Amino acid sequence: MRTGLIEALDPTRGLIIGGEHRRGGAGLFDVEDPAHRRVVAAVADADTRDATAAVDAAHAAFDGWRALAPRARSEILHRAHALMLRDADDLAALITVENGKSLADARGEVVYAAEFFRWFAEEAVRTGGDYGSSPAGGTRTLVTHRPVGVAALVTPWNFPAAMATRKIAPALAAGCTVVLKPAAETPLTAIAVVRLLAEAGVPAGVVNLVPSTDAGAIVGTWLADPRVRKISFTGSTRVGQLLLRQAADRVVKTSMELGGNAPFVVTADADLDAAVEGALVAKFRGGGQACTAANRFYVHADVVSEFTARFGARVEALTVGPADGGAEIGPLISGAAVDRVTALVQDAVAAGARVAATAAVPESKGWFVAPTVLADVPVDAAILDEEIFGPVAPIVAWTDEEELLRWVNDTEMGLAAYVYAGDLGRALHLAERIEAGMVGVNRGLVSDPAAPFGGVKQSGIGREGARAGLEEFCETQYFSVAW
Ligand code: NAD
Repeated sequence: MRTGLIEALDPTRGLIIGGEHRRGGAGLFDVEDPAHRRVVAAVADADTRDATAAVDAAHAAFDGWRALAPRARSEILHRAHALMLRDADDLAALITVENGKSLADARGEVVYAAEFFRWFAEEAVRTGGDYGSSPAGGTRTLVTHRPVGVAALVTPWNFPAAMATRKIAPALAAGCTVVLKPAAETPLTAIAVVRLLAEAGVPAGVVNLVPSTDAGAIVGTWLADPRVRKISFTGSTRVGQLLLRQAADRVVKTSMELGGNAPFVVTADADLDAAVEGALVAKFRGGGQACTAANRFYVHADVVSEFTARFGARVEALTVGPADGGAEIGPLISGAAVDRVTALVQDAVAAGARVAATAAVPESKGWFVAPTVLADVPVDAAILDEEIFGPVAPIVAWTDEEELLRWVNDTEMGLAAYVYAGDLGRALHLAERIEAGMVGVNRGLVSDPAAPFGGVKQSGIGREGARAGLEEFCETQYFSVAW
């Protein structure tokens, strides 16, 4: 990493409110590198007065920002896209140091994150409405969409750049101003992104950043503030449920991107080489710490041995270690995550699963877990029901399609799913019956700024990306007109 990169962010004044870099009312907190387990920065820790000051700034900036011509907002977002790409190496280095993911994954994340600025720069100028007549005649109906107001954005640590830009870009395109609380594990990337936005020409107060170790107090303050009209949250289902309850008190508009439990289905006629490639991407991107990560592999009994052997050989060859050593798989985010994943593996093995493959893990005090393939996993094992959020792939053999679909849909989660089949019609037939917001068909990756990302059931409410992502930050108004 470039010397002085973190210091240049001035993290001890990491609150950015009304364009000013400020200290936090709660002092400082440490950010750790999970690969080396060393403190890399002390960051300003906000208190509830800071949270309110951020809303003051966002509220003050709202009228000016919404009144700016869509083309002017669009051009600022285009500049943000260009600046993120200009600084891609630095941003990728920040992501690796605070999140631990590999440099290749971090670079991929930066490009994906920047793309939200470009996509919503293009959407910002497509302001549409509707015009109609009432059925009885006489009156006309004009329908318009306007920014909902100050939006509170809350993001997780697993994609420190992309989860922020996926919210900031549509909010700004719609004409909203925002207050953002990044995860306490990964505030440095968020500071860098908000600084870039100022350089791109985002006026002071339009994007306000509030790092904090007391998420409940900060977000609770925002949801109690009548000036906050929207919450967009990405994180666990548990916290999403809590915020939905809080949002109910003031009937705040909500978008929830929550946990997943993605099935990865392989049929007997699938191209096994393609399925193995897709499985590697779907399982191991970010070390398995993605909400879209393949969590359970259902492989047809006719090909399960072959698939397990080929997939296992690739997993055994994965390099594990710190990103600065060029490894493909980094550490988990914390010791608690290591304990949780290890316990899930032990439980599955005790229930009869077999360790079919593991990769070597370096001698290190980092939070590493061996990439592992488990075969013969009993269908009722906890590892098939809980979000693993780690580099472990449990495989179950199937024969009957109706039984397969019962297993696949027997979960409260419904974010992503993957189907590999030789016959595309068969694949789509299966995909349509899977209860998930997104299905990768002969693909191990579903994320795309132009596609509506989101889940069904307890995986969430609302969509990010696509036109739908912008509509989440708008409300509809109509004029009933007589003339
Ligand atoms: P988390 O729910 O613990 O934290 C997410 C954010 O919420 C963080 O900013 C955290 O500080 C904040 N938070 C924690 N407690 C809070 C409270 N009481 N009130 C308000 N805010 C609070 O989740 P995590 O561990 O950071 O992230 C992992 C989870 O996120 C996984 O379940 C994963 O599937 C999910 N995720 C979902 C998507 C998606 O798009 N659906 C994307 C990425 C991650």
